[in-house]
Amino acid sequence: MSLYIRMVAIFFTVLLIISLSPCLLYSDVIKGTSPADKTPTWYAMDWVLNSKYSPIFEVLDTESALGRYAPMTKTITLKDLIKFHGHPCDGLIQAACALKMAFDKLFPNGVIDRTDIRVLSSNSPCYVDAASYLTGARINFGTLEIDNSLGTSWIVQVISTGKTVKVTRRSGVFPKGLEALEKKIKSGRGTPEEITRCRDMEWKFAKRLLSRPLESSFKVQELKGFHWPGSKYKKVGKRGDIRFKNAPYCNK
Ligand SMILES: [Zn+2]
Repeated sequence: MSLYIRMVAIFFTVLLIISLSPCLLYSDVIKGTSPADKTPTWYAMDWVLNSKYSPIFEVLDTESALGRYAPMTKTITLKDLIKFHGHPCDGLIQAACALKMAFDKLFPNGVIDRTDIRVLSSNSPCYVDAASYLTGARINFGTLEIDNSLGTSWIVQVISTGKTVKVTRRSGVFPKGLEALEKKIKSGRGTPEEITRCRDMEWKFAKRLLSRPLESSFKVQELKGFHWPGSKYKKVGKRGDIRFKNAPYCNK
């Protein structure tokens, strides 16, 4: 059955369920109903999307600005993430892999609830973009906080339950030669040839991450009783788009 026919069938099945049980709450969301974009292109190479351990994410949101939970998930690939971030890089791919491990621990049903997550990350454009895009966490809603002491690790919490995990890159995973080269380029003393070599080394490192089990590169631990730090941003607001996520479909 083609994907289109399958999606139409699922859509009408959902409508039928609603008409038969108008008070249904969608605690059992349907996964895998949107296609995963794994078609390579110049900014999302084949190894990025189709390596053995390239992560894929099933995310859950609300269905409108004041709406309930959507009945189905959306599927996000590294290609979607790269479109948001701007380039494929080892930082983005490291963050995506690490966060995938956090999600597997926090959401055993495989559905990442983007209405119910907050994240702590160090202030890297690549790390923060991955965290924000994949989780829905934002500084302006107090769900994304910056802590540079974290280095290459992330703390992720399910807001409603308080369950918290920390994912950290294992020592020795980051290539030593790359570290030295990045340092030289950051100092402003890198040659054009070195900038190109640095890009290639970063891609080689990222490719390696995606070609072996994520547990080889990152470790995840639960943080019991973790106290979430207050936001330092003065204009924190409250998300209105998740306020009615549990609203029933009728008053019965
Ligand atoms: Zn980047």
